[in-house]
Amino acid sequence: MSAIEVEGLTVRLDGTLIVDGVDLDVAEGEWVTVIGPNGAGKSTALRAIGGLLAFGGTVRWHGVPADRLSRRERAKAVATVLQSPVVPPAMRVFDYVLLGRTPFIPPLGRESAMDLAAVEEVLVALDLESFAGRRLETLSGGERQRVFLARALAQGAGILLLDEPTSALDIGHQQEVLELVDRLRAERGLTVLATMHDLTTAGEYADRMFLLAAGRVAASGTPAEVLTEPHLAEHYRVKVRIIEGDRGPLVVAVRG
Ligand code: ADP
Ligand code: MG
Repeated sequence: MSAIEVEGLTVRLDGTLIVDGVDLDVAEGEWVTVIGPNGAGKSTALRAIGGLLAFGGTVRWHGVPADRLSRRERAKAVATVLQSPVVPPAMRVFDYVLLGRTPFIPPLGRESAMDLAAVEEVLVALDLESFAGRRLETLSGGERQRVFLARALAQGAGILLLDEPTSALDIGHQQEVLELVDRLRAERGLTVLATMHDLTTAGEYADRMFLLAAGRVAASGTPAEVLTEPHLAEHYRVKVRIIEGDRGPLVVAVRG
């Protein structure tokens, strides 16, 4: 069964059609990455798929229409890491990760031992134990990105939506975070739908890709099928050279 099925997804923001009839699917355990030029509608589509924005069309998670689920059921199904999450001032890492448990804490209630254990487990898994008491603003970009992931994982959802999870990081930390996601995908059977900027890196980690342009799917398939000179010339207006790499196409922009 598909973990995510999206049919005819449309999103309007302030009356403007931003996502225009997108069909997309992600199999259980698969990693699918959406690429596309700035303003293509990637973030908007991802937020709609995560149930964070009103949309037209159908989004199903594990076969169930997203709008039929309660808040708690949604939180069990899908966790989203936005591109630049808003961080409450002076918040400590442990408390921020605990926010991932909010959907499971009853109104006016307190977190249970199970919630605290879930946070502990994720901090250990992401090698963040020594940061538990630190304020978020004192962390480096790579450390903070791990904390954002930790919050999403503490939620315990099977589907992880990641909006440009590495755009603020240097290449070493990019790789570290993506390897971590891939390891967790294998260990926990997670399904990953991400948006990414760097095309070579996107291709190395994705099983399949969707190229979004002006709110529509312009191409989809394996990285080798999507990352072609004609596709990138047409939609990014750039001349590229594609070099065959060990893990997928290497995309290099060249002067025209
Ligand atoms: P991407 O993530 O692919 O760069 P976004 O989904 O962030 O693209 O944005 C897609 C388009 O939607 C952009 O052109 C952006 O200016 C536009 N947009 C975002 N928010 C609004 C809004 N509230 N009203 C109108 N247009 C918006
Ligand atoms: Mg975006």
